[in-house]
Amino acid sequence: MKKTIAVLGSTGSIGSTTLKIINHNKKLFNIKILAANSNYKKICNQIKKFKPSIFIISNERTLLKVKKKFKKNKKIFLFNKFSEIPTNKKKINITISAIPGISGLDSTLRFIKKSDKMLLANKESVICGWQLINKEAKKNKTKILPLDSEHFSIHKLLQGINLSEIHKIYITASGGPFLNLPYSKFSKITYKQALKHPKWSMGKKISIDSATMMNKILELIEAKKLFNLDYSKFEIIIHPQSLVHAIVEFKSGISKFLYHEPNMIIPITNAIFDTKIDIRKLINYKLKNNLPTELNFIPVDKRRFPVINLIPILKKHKSTPIIINAINEILVDQFINKKISFNSINKYLFMVLKDKNYKKYAIQSANKLKHIYKIDQWARNTTYKIINESNI
Ligand code: NDP
Ligand code: MG
Repeated sequence: MKKTIAVLGSTGSIGSTTLKIINHNKKLFNIKILAANSNYKKICNQIKKFKPSIFIISNERTLLKVKKKFKKNKKIFLFNKFSEIPTNKKKINITISAIPGISGLDSTLRFIKKSDKMLLANKESVICGWQLINKEAKKNKTKILPLDSEHFSIHKLLQGINLSEIHKIYITASGGPFLNLPYSKFSKITYKQALKHPKWSMGKKISIDSATMMNKILELIEAKKLFNLDYSKFEIIIHPQSLVHAIVEFKSGISKFLYHEPNMIIPITNAIFDTKIDIRKLINYKLKNNLPTELNFIPVDKRRFPVINLIPILKKHKSTPIIINAINEILVDQFINKKISFNSINKYLFMVLKDKNYKKYAIQSANKLKHIYKIDQWARNTTYKIINESNI
């Protein structure tokens, strides 16, 4: 029997890579549900090519256009909201959750309940709502596999390992496009330069997060939550080649690392099949045959990447991750829309964390969705307020 698949964020970088893998193995999979936002052209192409039964299109204008185009097609049901999908007793076999930002949290939670296995790329939903996601996964017996390459690597390295055996886990960072840019030039960094990642091809938000190194802070929180380990067990290290994605140092003195080419097709294919595979045959993937002549590991320069100073702050209050995530989402969006400079992303971030009401929200418990959204909303409003009131 074919495995049923749902891809949330199907027109994005992770979503498109997933569909490429599925397309190579059409006999094994049946695409049931796709979800995207506003990319009309890609949505139409995916309807024609993959013939999903349901497509959720969050952008209303795009939804109307797609409805018009496919009005004679009786085999596809188009919805605007995840809450509109009819309940089906049969679970989806594999859901890929890849809608970026906290906007991916609601769909992640809904699909955790109706999937046998979830491949979780949306790190922001782990950061803000892991407690709820994990609870629903346990209740509904849903298996979760992290797709983020570092977390997929840690997951693989820790198979069959007792957590008490771990001394330290290193999360590697490429250093992004500005690893070697003279610091004096940081004030002139443009959006286009920040998008040009030297190793990975990714969506806009995560590319900017990689340029500021915020992506690693988000990944540190993601790893702490997914693997239920203390922050002190993790260290961020720069590895410019982006070939080693995580290193686990055991108390025994032995370290293991996971190495693969910097292409998300490798963790995604391995997670979809979740068994021993031959990637060359399965998806006709051409692996490079030569090993690198050097692998470098360098400590992070805090002047270049001030977000590293967030680590001690993270440890203090339980809802700080929700606040940092929300501030960052707004600041990245403002930078993408050319409203603020690259350097002011960090400046505003630390200004919001100094707001007089910060602690009041950071200490709050967030064990319900409405609590998460309340804290998130405070951080968003305060970020806008601080941007409007200051003139950096
Ligand atoms: P992209 O920006 O490339 O794609 C985002 C996708 O989500 C698009 O399909 C977009 O639709 C859709 N989308 C956005 N908002 C909504 C919404 N409100 N409702 C429905 N669909 C929506 O992102 P990436 O694929 O790069 O990243 C996805 C997630 O995976 C992020 O959380 C990221 O941190 C994580 N991740 C990504 C990696 C990568 O290599 N790209 C690596 C590790 C983690 P549309 O295009 O139609 O607007
Ligand atoms: Mg990553």
